[in-house]
Amino acid sequence: MSEVIFTNADYHYETLKPKLFGMLDVIGGHLIKKESRVLIKPNLLLPAKPEKAILTHPLVVKAVAEYVLWKGGRPHIADSPALGTFTKILRDGGYKTAFKGFDVEFKMFTGSVKVDVGKPFGQIDIAKEVFEADVVINLAKLKTHAQMLLTLGVKNMFGCVVGFQKPEWHLRCGIDMNMFARLLVRIYYAINPAITIVDGILALQGNGPGNSGTPRHLGILAGGRDATAVDMAICSLLGLDPDKLPTISAAKKLGMVNATVFYSGDFQRVENFIFPTMGSLVFGPRMFHRFMRKHMIQRPVVDNRRCKLCGECWQFCPVKAIDRDDTRIDFDYNRCIRCYCCIEICPHGALHAAKTVPGRLLHKAKNTWERFRS
Ligand code: SF4
Ligand code: SF4
Repeated sequence: MSEVIFTNADYHYETLKPKLFGMLDVIGGHLIKKESRVLIKPNLLLPAKPEKAILTHPLVVKAVAEYVLWKGGRPHIADSPALGTFTKILRDGGYKTAFKGFDVEFKMFTGSVKVDVGKPFGQIDIAKEVFEADVVINLAKLKTHAQMLLTLGVKNMFGCVVGFQKPEWHLRCGIDMNMFARLLVRIYYAINPAITIVDGILALQGNGPGNSGTPRHLGILAGGRDATAVDMAICSLLGLDPDKLPTISAAKKLGMVNATVFYSGDFQRVENFIFPTMGSLVFGPRMFHRFMRKHMIQRPVVDNRRCKLCGECWQFCPVKAIDRDDTRIDFDYNRCIRCYCCIEICPHGALHAAKTVPGRLLHKAKNTWERFRS
């Protein structure tokens, strides 16, 4: 049985700190010993202000770092951003201000070690700091995600894959959303963080996980030892069947999910949370699956009024499916593997995922097929 704790909270440090201390005491504070080297892994995706709800809030990270110090441990905070310099992320994200006068080390992952995460992926380069730490604390943000539906505890560990190897793994998984979910699960279990806490105080709904999403105040922190349990509990909180989350479905297929999840604390169902429009759009005979994925799945589109032609998306795209001239960008949808990295990193919120017309029709057909089968 896995326990998940929910705690109502806000970003006032005087009240937030004791609440996080209380959660950590219950979840696994005893694992942090004197002189333990504790790696805190927040979501530091790109430069974004705290009110955008893209990064783990700096005060959540500060309270956890303070807890580690209080236990006599040695905290260091690290991630491998997708975009922007680490200094800019710490400044824009409010970390510099929050940690003023605090002697805690921040580090961008650079070096890596090869880790065999299992079939079919084999060896993956994961940040070496993860394996040098005595305890890893996973501090995720509650956000929507165009490809994975939500990015929660399990997916946050993908940040431990260093730098440009992230888009490379997107490329290797191709258009297969379930394969990418399986990769995320394998990475999560290879790292096996001791504690997972998800910051859902100010969450991101709609077209997350980047600037196209819409912040929404939920006022909740969720935490536990097992990130799959935490993620399942958050799905229930948001009124989503956990099996619809690709990472949970992949973890179940791999036999890596504890069947019983027990919630405690301030669990209160969130109404009308807005998820990104997505769906596997794959059904019926196997021989048609590849075609369906390629032509029917939602595609990235640009809002030209918001695009500043900054170049981040075309530089990052793992398959170079974005072209541009002096006035606009264009997508090559034959090349595009629908990883949605471009949406995630666009600093101006100019990209979102949109269903194709055949995709809409296929969705209807899929629903009819499923009704017919049941
Ligand atoms: S879509 Fe976004 S990332 Fe791409 S060029 Fe335009 S503003 Fe930059
Ligand atoms: S265009 Fe965007 S969604 Fe398509 S492969 Fe490139 S980064 Fe991924």
